[in-house]
Amino acid sequence: MQDRNSNSEPGSDASLQQRSKLEAGTPESRANGAAAKSSEQDSLELPLLVLPGTHPCQSCGACCRYIATEIDAPTSMQDYEHIFWYLTHRDVGVYIDWEGDWFLEFNTVCEYLTEAATCGIYLDRPRICSDFSWNECEKTTQEPAYSKHFARPDEFVAWLEEKRPKAFAKYQKFRRKLIEKRAAASPKSLPTGAAARTEAGGAADA
Ligand code: SF4
Ligand code: SF4
Repeated sequence: MQDRNSNSEPGSDASLQQRSKLEAGTPESRANGAAAKSSEQDSLELPLLVLPGTHPCQSCGACCRYIATEIDAPTSMQDYEHIFWYLTHRDVGVYIDWEGDWFLEFNTVCEYLTEAATCGIYLDRPRICSDFSWNECEKTTQEPAYSKHFARPDEFVAWLEEKRPKAFAKYQKFRRKLIEKRAAASPKSLPTGAAARTEAGGAADA
């Protein structure tokens, strides 16, 4: 997935020109005309109301199926706990991009993505959507937008062990103490570890 925070200046003249070009003519004539001209296709802003049949965004909409926001790179035990917490949630991920920046990702489909994988609120869509360039997206470039992706807490802990062994040892100690303290205060045996999510078939109650 692409970092949506680093694209061209929105509302630029070029952007407005592209938009006017798209809005000219009927949906059918726009689709037919654009499909025949690759140079015109290169200037399209996406996702569109109607897509030319050969366009890479045709039936895709992958960039409308998640949101991601930058977070501070974790350095403290509390930060590690936050990453752990995020990743205990279904459809939530954390990734590190190629510049080393950290992002929290929510895999959730936009309410306005149509069944045809086009934007249902094209003119009203958020600015970040119109800034997004299909030329640089994962599907077009065939390259992941991240250097590392975590979907589960154990994946993050394994990364910590490999990349930051000292921090990992400290974190293990921190977690062990936390679990021991809880166990001592608990009247009965309770599940421990990220595996509890799977065993319980979902997130456990707090
Ligand atoms: S508003 Fe439109 S372009 Fe933006 S995420 Fe939703 S469907 Fe996609
Ligand atoms: S910009 Fe890329 S991810 Fe988004 S719909 Fe087009 S091809 Fe798919």
